[in-house]
Amino acid sequence: MSLNTHARPTSRPPEVDVLVLGAGFAGLTAARELTQRGLSVRILEARDRLGGRTWFADGLGRRLELGGTWVHWTQPYVWAELARYGIGTVPSPEPVIAHWWEDGRPRSGEPLELLARLDEPNRRLTAEARLVFPEPFHPLKRAALVEAVDQETVAERIAALGLPQADRALLETFWTLNVNGSIDAAAYSQALRWVALTNGDWAVNFEACASFKIDGGTGRLAHAIADDTDAELRFGAVVVSVEHDEDAVRVTTADGTTHTARHSISTLPLAALSRVRMVPELPDPMLEAVHQGQAGLGTKVWFRLEGVTEPFVAFGEKDWPLNFFQGEYPDGDGIIVIGFGPEASAIDPTDGAAIERVIGRLIPGARVTDVRGHDWVADPFAGETWPMHRPGYLTRALPGFHAGVGRLRFAGSDYAHGWGGFIDGAIESGLVEARRILTEHVEAGARLLAVSA
Ligand SMILES: Cc1cc2nc3c(=O)[nH]c(=O)nc-3n(C[C@H](O)[C@H](O)[C@H](O)COP(=O)(O)OP(=O)(O)OC[C@H]3O[C@@H](n4cnc5c(N)ncnc54)[C@H](O)[C@@H]3O)c2cc1C
Repeated sequence: MSLNTHARPTSRPPEVDVLVLGAGFAGLTAARELTQRGLSVRILEARDRLGGRTWFADGLGRRLELGGTWVHWTQPYVWAELARYGIGTVPSPEPVIAHWWEDGRPRSGEPLELLARLDEPNRRLTAEARLVFPEPFHPLKRAALVEAVDQETVAERIAALGLPQADRALLETFWTLNVNGSIDAAAYSQALRWVALTNGDWAVNFEACASFKIDGGTGRLAHAIADDTDAELRFGAVVVSVEHDEDAVRVTTADGTTHTARHSISTLPLAALSRVRMVPELPDPMLEAVHQGQAGLGTKVWFRLEGVTEPFVAFGEKDWPLNFFQGEYPDGDGIIVIGFGPEASAIDPTDGAAIERVIGRLIPGARVTDVRGHDWVADPFAGETWPMHRPGYLTRALPGFHAGVGRLRFAGSDYAHGWGGFIDGAIESGLVEARRILTEHVEAGARLLAVSA
């Protein structure tokens, strides 16, 4: 891969076959697929690093995943990439104790007891997963059934179960964790879609979400893919506008440079897309989705907890600024913990005292000695964490993103067919959109040959 950090002004369109916007997993995968079939590709990446919403960075005296982390064998695209580059996985530790909040006080018990408490309510909540999504990588296969549930929120469907208060509160926290945002804003269809991807089994889905990490970190896989393409990569290239017509795409970056190509793939997160001027504007349902954004507006923080040494799992209440904790790395006389919360603005990821107050409700006396986090929601190149859709997104907006607009295509975990919201979905959509451009390219070449013959 050529690392060209400064754009060269040029006015001779098209400069390359494909412009790929963004160097997260979707962009890198698309670039590799295209260049390996002989197309010229330039990647425009706003940041000075690869990986987007995955970031294996220094913190708390080790390397930590500040963004996307866990992968699973039920996720076919990322699993294939790991095999391709000979990269393994490492398990997160099995928790030996669970803490949770019940009837206004902390409780502790066996992790299996907590899982058992979640089992029946989750089964009932997601019972229709395979009925609505019999083939989860074709999410609109049963469009009428999907439409029937797509306007409902996760909160509404939980309320409709009529569960005893304690079970309901636990289930609400569990889904607030999955949404990384408010369950009042998250589509019920997204919950069904997630569980359909693990053959209707919510517990396997939970395992997929928090059990196996990439050995050497997500950055290792991102760099392996990047090393496998000779696409030109321009860091610090902040896309501010995208103009396209039937012949070409013209992309302008913040430094005023114009880049032209026959095709373009935008892998910008939905929220980041709202900062880009599109000419012509996106069709209404897509535009509406861009303005609404995703429901995943929460936080993920790392901190060191003194005095606790055994791996644990802990659930608070859904409205707490942090309501899920997982002890990840035993560390001397303490443990390094991950915490998740539903609203990034509700807690400063660098404020150890605030974090200590929340975890202290579940583990009284626990002392936070160091913290590390990143505010993805305030980050202009993300604006969201993992994309959990709002009601209506799946049936109204997603088909438009899948179809693309003229020579502009969309890839990324916000637009995936299968594991939307995951690294797997990013890779899948990068692959799918690259193959579509390759097919068009071959067909265009064949037409030219036929005309000249
Ligand atoms: C806190 C957190 C935890 C997560 N946990 C998991 C997990 O455990 N497992 C899992 O599978 N997934 C997880 N995810 C989700 C996963 O990380 C993402 O879904 C996936 O990495 C998205 O890849 P992408 O290529 O679609 O988008 P991104 O990684 O967001 O890539 C888009 C790229 O576009 C760039 N960009 C944005 N705006 C512009 C612009 N104007 N000009 C140029 N470039 C721009 C960005 O800098 C970025 O590099 C998590 C995400 C977060 C934030």
